[in-house]
Amino acid sequence: MQVAVVGAGWAGMAAAVTLAERGAQVVVFEAARQLGGRARRVTIEGAALDNGQHILVGAYTETLRLMRAVGADPDECLLRLPLELRTATGFRLKAAPLPAPLHLAVSLLTAHGLDLSDRLRAARFVGRLRRDGFKLPKDASVAALLVEHGQTAPLRELLWEPLCVAALNTPPDHASAQVFANVLRDTFGGERPASDLLLPRTDLGALFPEPAARFVTARGGEVRVGAAVRALDAGADGVVLDAHAQPFDRAIVACGPQHASALLAADPRLAGVARAIDALEYEPIHTVYLQYPEAVSLPFVMLGFTGGLLQWAFDRGALSGQRGLIAGVLSASGRHEALARPDLAAAVHGEIAVHLPALPEPRWKRVIAEKRATFSCRPGLVRPANRTPVDAIVLAGDYTASDYPATLEGAVRSGVAAARLVLG
Ligand SMILES: Cc1cc2nc3c(=O)[nH]c(=O)nc-3n(C[C@H](O)[C@H](O)[C@H](O)COP(=O)(O)OP(=O)(O)OC[C@H]3O[C@@H](n4cnc5c(N)ncnc54)[C@H](O)[C@@H]3O)c2cc1C
Repeated sequence: MQVAVVGAGWAGMAAAVTLAERGAQVVVFEAARQLGGRARRVTIEGAALDNGQHILVGAYTETLRLMRAVGADPDECLLRLPLELRTATGFRLKAAPLPAPLHLAVSLLTAHGLDLSDRLRAARFVGRLRRDGFKLPKDASVAALLVEHGQTAPLRELLWEPLCVAALNTPPDHASAQVFANVLRDTFGGERPASDLLLPRTDLGALFPEPAARFVTARGGEVRVGAAVRALDAGADGVVLDAHAQPFDRAIVACGPQHASALLAADPRLAGVARAIDALEYEPIHTVYLQYPEAVSLPFVMLGFTGGLLQWAFDRGALSGQRGLIAGVLSASGRHEALARPDLAAAVHGEIAVHLPALPEPRWKRVIAEKRATFSCRPGLVRPANRTPVDAIVLAGDYTASDYPATLEGAVRSGVAAARLVLG
């Protein structure tokens, strides 16, 4: 079977690997010059960095499985830490070295920076979700869920809202409580390793897309970069792509949602799917790289910030040996979007400097703004399925229907599901 995969993000490469494993002839078409899509390597000041600092968790089982399959050993490429959330102001929650679910209950009950009544409230909230199988009677906003379960301002500000924004990339007032509960189910509600933090030690290209491409080509497939597909024509002979004279038996459209919609809209049978995609709204993610002298480091590799603009700061020296380099992350929409990039970088430096005495000025600063980083994960959102009304055309991407928010794992699972549909 000959299959075209349009888009070499994590969904497209997961689909291509799954197809190649099963002996299908795969050609991947990627518009950009490099692989990885929204999780890719960028070169800044001569250093291999990422278009945005990413974090994975132990619950990303399909991503970890495929990384192993293509020869990217997760034990080497990722720093695995038992769940630990720390803020610069002293809040600290650390998974206890106990079997699940005690590891989480004890971590909530022993968290630093919250009073006992709040710790009990948080534990009761998670206990209640667990008893209900993490299924809510009806979807609402995360903000409403937290109020309904009596989560106080310190709990919301130090624990739940940062988790919501990090996982769903959507402000709590608009974020889906059910998807948030799904994330808690798979990370906190599973076995202890599921809640582990997995922080990339390599750039994102080397983590999966590039070894995946080598895996596909070693099995007779092709991965073409700088090869944008502008039209798809599905007829009796298969699917013809503008970039390829021969029809393919099937095509997996693994572009980001806005590009997928443009490709699908031309076929009247797919106009409904294109409209569903067009209804999605988007959220940005800003990453601020600050290169300090080499001696500068953070007290913990991933440090939370509250009350300002910055949400998380990552010590790239501790992660990947890029000493003195700090990556600041600002997820979702917010007042930081109104700032010009130099002002945003200066503000993030200022917020870190409050907590790191004698922090020198950075040697260089760089802001990467991904305006459409993910879809906005709203309550009751209807997302398109992998299967479309045209059998020969299948969708893959982080935005397709699933109980995950837009994440690497959501993209990989969608790619694997699309490939399995094609393989029948
Ligand atoms: C800054 C940032 C930080 C993030 N942080 C995290 C995180 O910490 N943890 C996490 O799990 N997730 C995170 N995410 C989300 C994660 O990166 C995405 O969910 C995931 O990468 C989406 O992959 P995808 O394959 O579905 O889509 P994409 O990555 O968008 O891939 C689509 C590909 O299709 C290509 N393409 C588009 N049109 C065409 C065409 N016509 N022809 C050929 N190719 C085309 C594009 O160039 C692209 O390479 C983050 C995202 C961003 C942007």
